Amino acid sequence: MSNSQNSTPTNFIRQIIDQDRQTGKHGGRVHTRFPPEPNGYLHIGHAKSIVLNFGIAEDYQGLCNLRFDDTNPHKENIEFVESIQDDVHWLGYDWDDRLFYASDYFQHLYDFAVELIENGKAFVCDLDGEEMRAYRGTLTEPGRESPYRARSVAENLELFQRMKAGDFEDGARVLRAKIDMASPNMNMRDPTLYRIRHGVIHHQTGEAWCIYPMYDYTHPISDALEGITHSLCTLEFEDHRPLYDWVLDNISIPNHPQQIEFSRLNLAYTVVSKRKLTQLVDEGYVEGWDDPRMPTLAGMRRRGYSAASIREFCHRIGVTKADGLVEMGMLENCIREDLNAHAPRRMAVLHPLKLVIENYPEEKSETLKAPNHPKDESMGGREIEFCREIYIDRADFREQANKKYKRLVSGGEVRLRNAYVIKCEEVMKNNQGEIVELRCSYDPETLGKNPEGRKVRGVIHWVSARHGVKGEVRLYDRLFNRADADKVEEGGHFTDNLNPDSLRTLTDCYFEPALASAGVGEQYQFEREGYFILDSREAAREEPVFNRIITLRDSWAKIDKPGG
Ligand code: ATP
Ligand code: MG
Repeated sequence: MSNSQNSTPTNFIRQIIDQDRQTGKHGGRVHTRFPPEPNGYLHIGHAKSIVLNFGIAEDYQGLCNLRFDDTNPHKENIEFVESIQDDVHWLGYDWDDRLFYASDYFQHLYDFAVELIENGKAFVCDLDGEEMRAYRGTLTEPGRESPYRARSVAENLELFQRMKAGDFEDGARVLRAKIDMASPNMNMRDPTLYRIRHGVIHHQTGEAWCIYPMYDYTHPISDALEGITHSLCTLEFEDHRPLYDWVLDNISIPNHPQQIEFSRLNLAYTVVSKRKLTQLVDEGYVEGWDDPRMPTLAGMRRRGYSAASIREFCHRIGVTKADGLVEMGMLENCIREDLNAHAPRRMAVLHPLKLVIENYPEEKSETLKAPNHPKDESMGGREIEFCREIYIDRADFREQANKKYKRLVSGGEVRLRNAYVIKCEEVMKNNQGEIVELRCSYDPETLGKNPEGRKVRGVIHWVSARHGVKGEVRLYDRLFNRADADKVEEGGHFTDNLNPDSLRTLTDCYFEPALASAGVGEQYQFEREGYFILDSREAAREEPVFNRIITLRDSWAKIDKPGG
């Protein structure tokens, strides 16, 4: 994937890198990493970070590592480790042989902790969680030093060794950095470096360890060990940067990466917190992590969004230090532009109404030609069967309507897309007065040309009743009713904001025959209905199931022009 070179707009991080290369910092090298915690599937916010980190590496002929930040073993599992790799690949990026785990460095991290202890820069503390909090002070009050802070190096070394050996229970002791309890930055008030966790089976290291390093200690060392030059993270880590630098300045490691913070992506009408997404999955609000309504990469892929359009979206939103909510429309525009250019056109009737062409012989059928794309001839065409009985959409017929209604009315004419002009002769109703069938006539002189001197109201799509394929369509809407989806009212819960109509299933749809052979991953425009893709999870079903990727923005304006 190397097309980002020309289209990637610059940003403040690229400017820093440009300067560093001019001054020869890091020997001119550029080496980034994407460090997900394997405690959920990747979401659109992660895509921003992936495109940034891998994109920068590509554009500067550098490298980008994939590193699992797996220091929190009780929340992590192997399903997430695998899905994350799939999703990064799907997005179009590769880490070659540079797949790492922070847990790869557990021994190094331990050795550096011993070094800190030996230099009087770390100590074993016996305060319990509550006491620690009380000693830490507040934003306006300095903290107090732990009574265990003055322990000798020898005692600290022995206790830390025994922590590792499993001599103490969870929470009995921690290893802390010795920095400054009066620092205005709370992160510098003797932060915890290691805690005890018995009884967990780590997905990489099994039961080898019962002490686990904290993120703020692990991250800078992992970066330095991998030769990272620019460690890009989100803004909430800005206050952690002094600690990042302190760790690297106080151990014997030559490389010192630069941490640079940028703002998180927040997208309107959805949530991108893994904790909340986990809740939606675990509590059954959605079908799973790859539910097509989820803002996860797996969900978007199943929904039919292309990787290229998500990359394009990430380029368009840019990278800044300003927090904000990005409009869903911004993402949808990228999806539509891509689909409009690339998706072959097909016809599908979602709310079928039977239509019988009385002057068309019963046994006859003919094969008509239709282009796959109105503007791109290179996409070729397909064949469509026409016969006496077809389906049109219920919304395309009204007994009476004013001039603005450019579809079929009683006694009126309309063009069938890619076929003939028909006229509605008779409306058949059942005992309840509901319309069950239309009786029409067709004009054999109107194939592929507009009738002379006659006013045809518009063009509608259709599917042959004899040749069409029956199946299901799933229409998706926003997952949440509020743009600020995670806002909760007093006593409420963010799930109160869920949109109860985010999924609508239509089971009696008819697709033109060419759609019977639609493959997984192939995107189509169903004319006048939107863009659709075969649901990859339902691909084995006999009757096809299509997901609507996205609606057409302006279907009428496009389709109503003669021949359009
Ligand atoms: P969450 O709060 O959803 O759990 P996280 O930051 O803890 O997110 P990680 O798996 O640690 O999730 O994230 C991996 C990388 O992706 C980090 O560098 C993180 O900064 C970045 N990232 C996560 N969410 C976003 C987002 N919404 N926008 C941009 N980058 C993000
Ligand atoms: Mg994290």
